[in-house]
Amino acid sequence: MKRCSACGVPRKITSTHRWLDNGTMVETNNPDHRMIFIESDNIGGVFTRIEEILGLPIEHLVIESQRRMTYDYVRSLMPSMVLKLFRMTSIRPLAKSVTELGRLVGLGDVELLSMRIKGDEGDYVKLGGRNLFYIPAYCGMVVGSMEALSGQECSISYEETSPGYYEVTTSVTTHPVELKERFKPREYSRKEGDLRLPRCSRCGGPSALAGYDFLYDEGIILHRANARRMLFDGPAEFEAIFSELEKELGEDIPQVIIEAQKLFVKSGFYDLGEIMDTDAFREHLALRGLGNLRDMEYGEDHLRLRIENPCLHLLLAGLAQGVFELASDREARVAWELAGDGDLTVEAS
Ligand SMILES: [Zn+2]
Repeated sequence: MKRCSACGVPRKITSTHRWLDNGTMVETNNPDHRMIFIESDNIGGVFTRIEEILGLPIEHLVIESQRRMTYDYVRSLMPSMVLKLFRMTSIRPLAKSVTELGRLVGLGDVELLSMRIKGDEGDYVKLGGRNLFYIPAYCGMVVGSMEALSGQECSISYEETSPGYYEVTTSVTTHPVELKERFKPREYSRKEGDLRLPRCSRCGGPSALAGYDFLYDEGIILHRANARRMLFDGPAEFEAIFSELEKELGEDIPQVIIEAQKLFVKSGFYDLGEIMDTDAFREHLALRGLGNLRDMEYGEDHLRLRIENPCLHLLLAGLAQGVFELASDREARVAWELAGDGDLTVEAS
């Protein structure tokens, strides 16, 4: 794997992602597809806390919505991929490039274990993996990709075969994929910005990425200073999971998500100093592709943020509430609003 000789970041990371000056990150080849670079424990941590608050498992909902998002996403890439598939004598090289990409973006150390693709019942693909970032979302990605590629409905199962090592199997059925109700991905605002992240003079990627170790063999990305694990993913996948939860479990869900994120933040995960410093927090959010922090006002009795081009706004609201409660050492309320132009205002008080 080629790395930048100046900052050490894999070339493929900085060539396939673009950090724009408006606080967003997109795929270079697909600028409509927003991406985030996020702490993987935050994702798993929020879902675990949602389950604790609700007192019921949500794994099946996470798998189902991730599967549908992945299916749609892979299908949208199909024209060129179909061509590639026809040129291939086997699906194996494709599986190989998918597992390589997975390692690179921090999904985990994944490998193809075995497969049978003959176009009839009995077809399956079995992947092995350790360091998987969040099993239900990973399973949804695997089964969604397989359904998009095969055009057939697939099932998914996983098993921890040795401590920390999972085998994930997707089996192809003889039923064509039924066109389920499609997710309408959130439309994100795209206001212009003038945010200048410091850049590596050689590869052009954000300089801050030099502070992370891209451990390709392990399939993980680690912040060198605090050992937090990071992940590149699409925010729309998580928004879809959140709206699926709301549809299935009721209108209280946004509040539950904010509460889950607040509890996670209050576990002391983030560096409070970095977040209470406006310039540092602006960079923190922009590096993650979470939006453009325009204003931050912090007083004894409130913390107020205005963010342009936000994504995962419920997590941002929970972050603000958690940070304010930590800083003020008391319980706070949080109010948030997404304006017509997409700006997010959050106030914890
Ligand atoms: Zn570089």
